[in-house]
Amino acid sequence: MTGPAKTPEGLDVQRYRLRLEEMKDQLEADLGAYRRDEAEQDGGPDEPGPGQRWEHSGLGDHLADDATELFEREKNAALEQTLQDHLRLVKHALSRLEAGTYGACEQCGRPIGAERLDAIPETTLCLEHKAEAERGGTAPGRVATTNAWRAET
Ligand SMILES: [Zn+2]
Repeated sequence: MTGPAKTPEGLDVQRYRLRLEEMKDQLEADLGAYRRDEAEQDGGPDEPGPGQRWEHSGLGDHLADDATELFEREKNAALEQTLQDHLRLVKHALSRLEAGTYGACEQCGRPIGAERLDAIPETTLCLEHKAEAERGGTAPGRVATTNAWRAET
């Protein structure tokens, strides 16, 4: 640690707050629409019933319609997960705004940079540490276990 992370001076925090609030509203609306869609499609409880299998094994034995439905469900679940992850990031960034640490990298405390924040207001890591987090997994703040994953570039 190089000292407590603090919002860099001169950063237009209010502008990012507005953008983050907007993103949060949009994501929550999208997630809400998703759940409505799913309920309409199924017309019933969302959970697979007892004895039903959603595993990949034996997929070839299923009717094509089943496979397509399974694929759609998995795709929707993945998309919903993406929305939820994004919403979590946006909320996290907002909480850092409240704490007065917005705009400083969570890993090294250095300013993330207005240019980068303009592009991705929800980011809480500088470029360097974002790349590291992505190599090591999806969770921000998680330490990369290896750098050998991709040697080129
Ligand atoms: Zn950093």
